[in-house]
Amino acid sequence: MKTAEIRSRFLNFFEKNQHKIVSGGSLVPHNDPTLLFTNAGMNQFKDVFLGNEKRDYTRATTSQRCVRAGGKHNDLENVGYTARHHTFFEMLGNFSFGDYFKEEAIRFAWTFLTVELGLPKEKLWVTVYKDDDEAADIWVNKIGVDPNRLSRLGDKDNFWMMGDTGPCGPSSEIFYDHGEDVPGGPPGSKDDDLDRYIEIWNLVFMQFDTLESGERVPLPKPSIDTGMGLERLAAILQGVHSNYEIDIFQSLIKAAMRETGCTDIENRSLRVIADHIRSAGFLIVDGVVPSNEGRGYVLRRIIRRAIRHGHQLGCTQTFFYKLIDDLIIEMGDAYPELDKLSDHIKKVLKIEEEQFARTLENGMAILNDGIKALTSDVVPGELVFKLYDTFGFPADLTADVARENGLTIDVEGFEAAMAEQRKQSQSASKFKMDRDVDLALDGATEFLGYDSLVAESQVLKLLSG
Ligand code: ATP
Ligand code: MG
Ligand code: MG
Ligand code: MG
Repeated sequence: MKTAEIRSRFLNFFEKNQHKIVSGGSLVPHNDPTLLFTNAGMNQFKDVFLGNEKRDYTRATTSQRCVRAGGKHNDLENVGYTARHHTFFEMLGNFSFGDYFKEEAIRFAWTFLTVELGLPKEKLWVTVYKDDDEAADIWVNKIGVDPNRLSRLGDKDNFWMMGDTGPCGPSSEIFYDHGEDVPGGPPGSKDDDLDRYIEIWNLVFMQFDTLESGERVPLPKPSIDTGMGLERLAAILQGVHSNYEIDIFQSLIKAAMRETGCTDIENRSLRVIADHIRSAGFLIVDGVVPSNEGRGYVLRRIIRRAIRHGHQLGCTQTFFYKLIDDLIIEMGDAYPELDKLSDHIKKVLKIEEEQFARTLENGMAILNDGIKALTSDVVPGELVFKLYDTFGFPADLTADVARENGLTIDVEGFEAAMAEQRKQSQSASKFKMDRDVDLALDGATEFLGYDSLVAESQVLKLLSG
C-alpha cells in the first residue's frame, strides 16, 4: 500500500465514524509564540481544547505536517541514526473535543489497526500511564490485550505535553514489534530506545492545561488527541523495518544518489539529505526563508547540514534544489502548493547553497585539520566558533561532523567565545554611534550580527534539550 493510500484510508475510516476531515495547519504557528514549528496534529486545535474557541464539530481527523527540529520535541540529532525519526513527518490524528473519551479512543485505534488494516494483534504492544488503571482495564478486559504485552510507564513516556505550557494529559501508546532480527526490547525495558518495538500511535487523554507558573489546571472538558506517524505505519504495511525504506523515501534517496553520484543506497548521508529536502521544502512552502534568526535560522541549519552531507558524498556542484522535482512527484498530489511554489522553493534553496558553497570547502579543510591535531575527543569551542563566525557553520553542523568521528564539541567554550564576540560587537557599534549617528546602515548590520549570535545560542539550548 502506497503511503498516499494509507493517508486516505485513515481519514476515510474516521470520516465513516462521524469525524470531520479538516486540512492540516501551516508549519508556522503564526498565533502561538510558545511554539517554533507545528510539532503535532493537535496544535491547530489548541484553543478548542482550552475552551477558548468553538467549532461546529466535536470530532475531527487530520493529516498534519510536522517539523521537529527544535523546541520540546527535537529530532534533528536522530535523523540518520534511527529507523524512525525525521525532521519532517506527517502525523495522522483523530480528535474529540469533549465528545468521546478513553474507551472509544482506544476502540477506534485498535479497530483501525487490527480490523481495517488487518495487523496481527500479537505484533502490537501497548503502554499506559503508571497509575491509569482505567486505561489498563479497558485494554485488558474490554479489548482483550494480553496483559503481558502491556507496560505502565511514567511521565517521560506516557504523559504528553505539547510544550512547557498548554494542553496535556496522560497517554496510552501502541507499539509494533518488528521482530527478533532487530535489536531492542519492549517499552519499559532497558533497550526500548532501539528500533525493534517502534512506537506508532499515541492516544492522549487531554485533561489539563499547564500554565506558565507550572500549575496544572483541568480543561473545561476531557478530550482526545491522537497522533500516529504516517511513515512508521507505512513501513509496517510495506513490510519494511525502517521508515527510510518506504516508497517516498526510496524515491528521494534514489534521487539523491542520482544528484550526488553516491552508489551506496545504505549511506547515512543519503538518508539525511532525503529527510532534509522534505523539511526544507515544506518550511519554504509555509513561508520560512533562511535567515540569521528564529525559524529562518533553523531552516538555514537544515539546508546547510544537507549540503554538507552532499559534500561528504563527493558532490562538488549544487544539487539540493534539484531534489524538489522529485519531492513534488512523491508528495505533490497531497500538497499541491509544492508544485505551485516550486520555482520559489528551488530559487531559495539554490541561493542558500551557492552562498554556503563558497565557504564550505575551506571550513571543512580547517575542521578536518583541527580534528587531526586533537589530543582529546572534544572539538574546542574556539574552533567551533571560528567555523561559525567565518565559514557560516552552524554549531550543530560541526557537532554532526564531530559525531561521525566519535567526538563531541565543547558547547560551553563555544558559548563563551560567542559572548566575547557579542560584547565586542556591542561596544564597536556604540563607538560608531558615538562617532557618527548617520551610520544607520552600519548599525543595522551590527544588530543583525548580534541577533544571529543570540539566535545561535538559543537554538543550541533548544537542541541540547
Ligand atoms: P519517539 O518516542 O519515537 O521519539 P514520540 O513519543 O516523541 O516518538 P509523540 O510525540 O508521541 O512521539 O508523537 C506521536 C507519533 O508521531 C509517534 O507515535 C510517532 O508515530 C510519530 N512521530 C513522532 N516523532 C516522529 C519523528 N521525528 N519522525 C516520524 N514520526 C514521528
Ligand atoms: Mg520523540
Ligand atoms: Mg515516545
Ligand atoms: Mg509518544
